[in-house]
Amino acid sequence: MIALSSDMKLYNSLSKNIEEFVPLNAPHVGMYTCGPTVYSYATIGNFRTYLTSDLVVRALKFSGYNVEFIMNLTDVGHLTGDNEGDADTGEDRLEKSAKKEGKTAWDIADFYTKAFIKDFDELNLTKPQSFMKATEHIPEQIELIQRLQKNGFVYQISDGLYFDTVSYEKITGRKYGELSSLDKILEGARVEPNLEKKNPRDFALWKFSPENQKRQMEWDSPWGIGFPGWHIECSAMSMEKLGETFDIHTGGEDLRATHHPNEIAQSEGATGKLFVKYWMHSAFLKVDGKRMGKSLGNAYTLTEVKEKGYDAMALRYFYMTGHYRSPLNFTWEALSAAQNALNKLRATFASTEKLDEEMRTELSEEKLQKITDFRQKFTQSLNDDLNTSEMLSVLWEVAKSNIPSPDKRDLLLLFDEVLGLQLDVKPEEGPVPSDVLDLFEKRKIARENKAFFESDTLRDQISAKGYTVKDSPDGTSKLSKSFTFKD
Ligand code: AMP
Ligand code: ZN
Repeated sequence: MIALSSDMKLYNSLSKNIEEFVPLNAPHVGMYTCGPTVYSYATIGNFRTYLTSDLVVRALKFSGYNVEFIMNLTDVGHLTGDNEGDADTGEDRLEKSAKKEGKTAWDIADFYTKAFIKDFDELNLTKPQSFMKATEHIPEQIELIQRLQKNGFVYQISDGLYFDTVSYEKITGRKYGELSSLDKILEGARVEPNLEKKNPRDFALWKFSPENQKRQMEWDSPWGIGFPGWHIECSAMSMEKLGETFDIHTGGEDLRATHHPNEIAQSEGATGKLFVKYWMHSAFLKVDGKRMGKSLGNAYTLTEVKEKGYDAMALRYFYMTGHYRSPLNFTWEALSAAQNALNKLRATFASTEKLDEEMRTELSEEKLQKITDFRQKFTQSLNDDLNTSEMLSVLWEVAKSNIPSPDKRDLLLLFDEVLGLQLDVKPEEGPVPSDVLDLFEKRKIARENKAFFESDTLRDQISAKGYTVKDSPDGTSKLSKSFTFKD
């Protein structure tokens, strides 16, 4: 750990500026991340956003802060209409998925929660102090709605209780939706507007169960049987754990348009205080330059990535090649390059020596200076709104440098506290990915046919995927993972 740093700069979506990070109550930092809706497997897109949160937590810890990190799991009440720009209409995602899979909504939530946490761990993401489930905090949500009601921000229509954004602005003098541009919210709406709502921007706090229909997930409330609106859980649970004002709130950039403005309105409407000081949003992951989507068949999961023979840590490395606020394009080629880079780094680490302090010889001035420079450069990149690609390039400079082996080892481990690549894990041989095997087979045939140009090209393609081909004088060839790098 490094001494408490006040040099950290982060982009705050609220002010739309890079700001110096000054926590409310240093060295304590309270941080909340909007978690997944557990109705299907999380995609590698979702995990890009959670990787950003993980990096924030690791960077803060590296800089000497004590981080209290909370994340929710939406296991009720997130309606499908959100895809069309209106989170208050459509079917409950969990109940819909339950119908499709012939299970109960509770089973669906339980199954996908477990799957999510498994992937979360495999990606070496820092576990929050608690994964808070919306269904386990219904009384807190009801209580928050009652506070809003007392303050005059709630009205009831036939399908539920709604937050009144106009009276919120009138009574508090605050502006609704500062995080996003309001036009965006309206533009996105493709569904029929609910004509009973006083204003299209108003949103559900509590929805009634449809008449003559028993939902699988429903609760009694002072207003009738029903379930909470999607947004209220995050306000209720974050404030319950982190207090009415806390430091950092993160999520994907799509949440900036409605979910987060709604969280702010609900929380500040209830407490009259600032809800969150710094808002951070992660840009979306694309696949082959296109939007990710289940219907497009490109909403890959970590399991699919691993089935193709890649390490979860290669995905992690790939995420960090881009800045969290810029869109990142996933391709299998880019993942292969990341796997290759990871293999080389792990091989470098494995070749370093571990030495006890007393065994070390004194370092020359020049080498000491180099080590200090590396540390400084790394910290500067981290402080520069989490410039991960720069952090990785400093890691590479260390890997390729001529500083003594034990010092190299220490520095790589120190930087890995933030990067989380598990460099100290021995590279696993694992199964050879099928695309590499295909290339290897093709090369065999090319050699048999004496098509040497083609066979060389195939060797290069195999090498780009992190594998080496060794030809023996008897004409046979061997395939192995490459663990060395030339420079
Ligand atoms: P959801 O389960 O739909 O509530 O999404 C969980 C989190 O993943 C949210 O913070 C979303 O903003 C984020 N997310 C969804 N799709 C992507 C994507 N393609 N790239 C990055 N983050 C995403
Ligand atoms: Zn949320």
